[in-house]
Amino acid sequence: MDNKRRIGDLLHAHNLRKTPIRTEMLEMFMDHDFALSANNVITKMMGRYNRVTIYRALNSFEEHGILHRASEDGHGIKYAMCGPHCPDQLHLDKHAHFVCDECHHTYCLEEVKVPNVELSNEFSVRHANYNLSGICKKCKT
Ligand SMILES: [Zn+2]
Ligand SMILES: [Zn+2]
Ligand SMILES: [Zn+2]
Repeated sequence: MDNKRRIGDLLHAHNLRKTPIRTEMLEMFMDHDFALSANNVITKMMGRYNRVTIYRALNSFEEHGILHRASEDGHGIKYAMCGPHCPDQLHLDKHAHFVCDECHHTYCLEEVKVPNVELSNEFSVRHANYNLSGICKKCKT
């Protein structure tokens, strides 16, 4: 299935209207094998969409189980595409992420599951951030 079809199906499955900004943004995420920050997206879409519209689209993707938070550091929040099973308002992407010290890219480590932690009921978890850092395969060579 090509990306355009995939995007149409994805938006439909999550009850989001298909708009040019949403389509373009998801194409951008699908074209990268690492996570993108709001600033990365803004840089690429500047001139065509304003910051507010871009942030709004990112937030709605996070709320609707299309993008999840891959890392959060001095470079801002970085988002990555969700797996096919995230419903609205809930993320099932419970995998670790790898942040490269050289290029600062964040990669999903889908095969590395986040360990289950026991928490007292005084706390309710919204985001779990399980990041590993080091040198990525591209910077190694
Ligand atoms: Zn998700
Ligand atoms: Zn790297
Ligand atoms: Zn991920």
